[in-house]
Amino acid sequence: MIQHFIGNEFVPASDGGTFETLDPSTNRPIDQIASGTVEDVDRAVRAARAAFDDGGWPRMSAAERARFLHRIGDLIEAHADEIANVEIADTGIPSSQIKGGAIPRAADNFHFFADMALEVGDESFPVEGQFKNYAVRRPVGVAGLITPWNTPFMLETWKIAPCLAAGNTCVLKPAEWSPLSANSLALILQEADLPPGVFNIVHGFGETAGAPLVAHPGVELISFTGETTTGQEIMRNGATTLKRFSMELGGKSPTIVFDDADQTRALDGAIWQVYSLNGERCTAGSRLLVQNDIYDDFVTRLADRVRRIKVGQPTDPATEIGPLIHPDHWHRVRQYIDIARREGATIVTGGDRPAAFPEGNFIKPTLITQVGNDMRVAQEEIFGPVLVVIPFEDEAEAVRIANDTRYGLAAYVWTSDPDRGKRVAESIVSGLVWINSHNVRDLRTPFGGCKMSGIGREGGRYSFDFYTDYSTIHVALGEHRIPRLGMGGSS
Ligand code: NAD
Repeated sequence: MIQHFIGNEFVPASDGGTFETLDPSTNRPIDQIASGTVEDVDRAVRAARAAFDDGGWPRMSAAERARFLHRIGDLIEAHADEIANVEIADTGIPSSQIKGGAIPRAADNFHFFADMALEVGDESFPVEGQFKNYAVRRPVGVAGLITPWNTPFMLETWKIAPCLAAGNTCVLKPAEWSPLSANSLALILQEADLPPGVFNIVHGFGETAGAPLVAHPGVELISFTGETTTGQEIMRNGATTLKRFSMELGGKSPTIVFDDADQTRALDGAIWQVYSLNGERCTAGSRLLVQNDIYDDFVTRLADRVRRIKVGQPTDPATEIGPLIHPDHWHRVRQYIDIARREGATIVTGGDRPAAFPEGNFIKPTLITQVGNDMRVAQEEIFGPVLVVIPFEDEAEAVRIANDTRYGLAAYVWTSDPDRGKRVAESIVSGLVWINSHNVRDLRTPFGGCKMSGIGREGGRYSFDFYTDYSTIHVALGEHRIPRLGMGGSS
């Protein structure tokens, strides 16, 4: 039984309610989870509020907080295998991609933001001889952190680390389909001996646990990662209490392969970028744009590789695609295959459950051609191992198709011409663009989306811009002139 974590203690839901989390390989329950209520959220926010208003955490030096954060990073490294096993069981992501990727990155998030907190100090604006003006950064208060089910542990730490490094306290509401690794994090933060109330978790559903967190007057900040439509609703619900929002939302990102690209590397990148993490990644390169004169050859090689991607149990180190997170999500992804057929596209490979896996949420890696960019499969986020391929004639057409979407999260450009790479990258309206690379992150850079893919940027000092407020202090150095009122004769 997994409980909420409030004030450094594990506690049940106020009404004793629970829900199940399922093993994606079998859809059998793994565990019971406390189901958060308005009362639970209020209790957690009050704990976080007390830790912020009266506790030591916001008043410590950045260096003192950094010591706690490094300790958390060390503990994640020490418990990496256990956390990875929990995450693999709860999400169905292949073990090689969790053990080699998401868990080490979670530890890095704590180490990185611990160090970064020491760098993002105050700023000063001297006015010669008259003023010493300076802006001090201060923590904002209590943050509500609301996270999705894809790579939950990594995404949670991506928010928690800068939030705490900046001196805030927080309440995390993990996704209901993958709540287990958040509990591993609570155990680690308990072991790291953070002051009570600095970090709290309320589990549960969006409507019953997420919404009260957004509406709570004791919460100043909401950092949300999830679907665009959920982000819109959260912004509406947080307007009354004037929350500050960071929104990391959906995507339908293009991978553009020009005829002068290193085609082998482009192929590796295009495949990795949409079929890794079961295709359940916000930055998936889920629209592949291929230049006409290499199209046939490139798609033939692509189809051959996609057919050979190994679907299997997520615990098997050889597995490249595991089961999708939940049966509802399986049906959603599966439905898009029918939509593609109805729209006149061709399913080159995949499209259904592999015969060897009669139960669980397994789906074959799917490749779809004869796609127009106006089709639903080219415009809507499928969030599974499904790639659509669209031909283009020249650079201008590639840019036009790439930008013809409501999203703007990521883009990948493959070309051997550096000028073209730069031109195309700078013409795509997207928060992130990689040239001749898959999604290799530099944690110092601004991360976030344009258009319907998000609002604001996190990463590096940009996270501190979100998680801190400035107070600007103006200190007069001498006796500057003050305009004088009331110096005339009596009226
Ligand atoms: P989701 O929007 O359904 O849920 C995300 C979280 O919001 C969950 O914890 C859920 O319980 C909560 N929630 C739902 N309704 C709520 C409400 N009314 N008030 C408060 N909280 C509420 O998203 P998901 O299906 O869990 O995740 C997949 C989505 O996340 C995809 O669209 C993906 O692109 C996006 N995503 C974006 C990024 C990014 O950095 N841009 C990263 C990962 C995932």
